[in-house]
Amino acid sequence: MSLKSKVTGLILAGGRGTRMGRVDKGLQPFRGATLVAHVMARLSPQVASVAINANRNLPQYQAVAGESPVLPDFIDGFAGPLAGLQIGLQFCPTELLLTAPCDSPFFPLDLAERLHAAMAAQGADMAMAVTMERDPEQPDAAPFRQPHPVFSLMKASVLPQLDAYLDTGARRMEGFFKTLKVAEVMFDDAAAFGNINTLEDLHRHERTAPPPAAPAAVAPRDADPAALPVDEAQRLICERIAPVEATETLPLLAALDRALAADIISPINVPAYDNSAMDGYALRGADLPAQGTATFKVIGIAYAGHPFTQAPQQNECVRIMTGAAIPPGCDSVLPQELAAAIDGDSVTIAANALRAGANLRRAGEDLKAGGIAIAAGKLLRPADLGLIASLGIPSVSVRRKLRVAFFSTGDELRSLGDKLDTGCVYDSNRYTLFGMLTRLGCEVIDLGVVRDDPQALEAALRDAAGKADAIITSGGVSEGAADYTRDIMALLGDVAFWKLAMRPGRPLAFGKVQTEQGSAWLFGLPGNPVAVMVSFYMFARPALLRMMGAEAKLQTLQARATEAIRKRPGRTEYQRGIVSTGADGVAQVRLTGAQGSGILSSMTEANCIVVLHHAQANVDAGQMVDVMLFDGLT
Ligand code: AMP
Ligand code: MG
Repeated sequence: MSLKSKVTGLILAGGRGTRMGRVDKGLQPFRGATLVAHVMARLSPQVASVAINANRNLPQYQAVAGESPVLPDFIDGFAGPLAGLQIGLQFCPTELLLTAPCDSPFFPLDLAERLHAAMAAQGADMAMAVTMERDPEQPDAAPFRQPHPVFSLMKASVLPQLDAYLDTGARRMEGFFKTLKVAEVMFDDAAAFGNINTLEDLHRHERTAPPPAAPAAVAPRDADPAALPVDEAQRLICERIAPVEATETLPLLAALDRALAADIISPINVPAYDNSAMDGYALRGADLPAQGTATFKVIGIAYAGHPFTQAPQQNECVRIMTGAAIPPGCDSVLPQELAAAIDGDSVTIAANALRAGANLRRAGEDLKAGGIAIAAGKLLRPADLGLIASLGIPSVSVRRKLRVAFFSTGDELRSLGDKLDTGCVYDSNRYTLFGMLTRLGCEVIDLGVVRDDPQALEAALRDAAGKADAIITSGGVSEGAADYTRDIMALLGDVAFWKLAMRPGRPLAFGKVQTEQGSAWLFGLPGNPVAVMVSFYMFARPALLRMMGAEAKLQTLQARATEAIRKRPGRTEYQRGIVSTGADGVAQVRLTGAQGSGILSSMTEANCIVVLHHAQANVDAGQMVDVMLFDGLT
């Protein structure tokens, strides 16, 4: 039996991150992924499976963990690494547990093997890594022994001893280890056990080249285990977001495009009375001829709004207009064009010309009194206004408008009216975002262009968090050198930085910015103009709809690809397309020219986005693909 199959890995990510300003350390961006994803990538090859111990932001950790469990402490109160170890041991399905902290992304890839060898040789309960270090303040002094208790391999059977130790109220790892037989393993490379405690550490490491066996080298490039599938990211976002609570009552005409806050209950039957669906003759179905013909005498006329209240007798009928109340005793309407003959006030009807009960609109067939006419959460469209009006309801309760602040980041951006210096571009994202947010019915707060400068970014985010329910930024979330947005975002809140398995729009920041002035959900979209739109539609829009209290569905329909489309499995690709009706009446789609993520003209030419799903491979000409139309009828 291989060692690997006997070991479960446990990533300790349950701390408060006090030294990093209380940000969630494991989720900090680092070399294109999160710290915890790097630790995961180094631990995974050494163990049968990995669990993560975390106490905050569980969905984000779950995204990294994939199928593996994320385990919060069993005991309360951020009790430190031993509490993480306890839940890890409780869970551990194998004989041995190997721990690694979420903020040490460089540890050796033979950690499990070397610890195990020492443990076995010494018949120990556990083995711990030790290095020799020098005090940076006193480089000439003798090196000292530095134990690394968070890098330990232990028997899962030590759990009762740990429980007993924790019961005494003690919390220190070294203290617990004193109750066990411990093997120490000396590792030469002290730097491999270095951890990242502060944002400065993070930046320093970010700038230095990764060591040779960094996760990038461990994971095959294409498979990119840290890249999050689109649907997973959508789910994680939706799980965290709840609708705004405040509602307001608006006159019907002011409620268009707003989300209904409470069910509309019909106070009446619609229609309120049986009425005619046709211009024709109302009669008693029982009088219709079984064979041959029958002639009916017209005894009166019923108009919409002017009922005829006398009941016809045998072989009598009433001339009736569409919408007029059905006279008493009648149950069928003969459309006038189906009469065999009409002569003055007599109408002749042939057998089988009419089915008894036909051409009536029954009372309550549209809506029953007391029934739900429109469910809460509906975004009110023109038809909804009409329906509500048909119930005689003059005003409705809707959720308040969402306030969404947005700004663009980048030193290269110029505003309209400015001179375009060399190396600069006009800021287009703010215009696109304005359009998409306004269409969504949000109250927009345009915070302009913010330079790639930490202070300016912090001020803009603080300002936005004080004013808005959500903040949308563009640019600065990739790993470019001048992009401080990530750091500032991480400083001001619990923000996760995702590398998404999608194209365009790979990086995305999502989380909550919290300041004394207020808090807001943050969507840090990429900078490229097409990527901004695609990531807005796929992530921000559903989330904003949810905040608005509206049901959020991304509607796709199918169209036949007129040409072959290249597609790599393992990521979702969004291509710009033009959908039209083919000669055979089936919807067909062709791609607009260049698909680069900066090419906005491809977006303006397009009328849809072709969605090529995660697992999908190349598409042949003639194959059906999913498309999402930019403009629906609603
Ligand atoms: P970034 O994600 O900040 O590295 O930006 C990626 C690319 O998008 C760069 O080429 C930027 O110049 C471009 N870009 C970023 N923001 C905007 C914007 N607001 N308008 C137009 N282009 C932008
Ligand atoms: Mg930028």
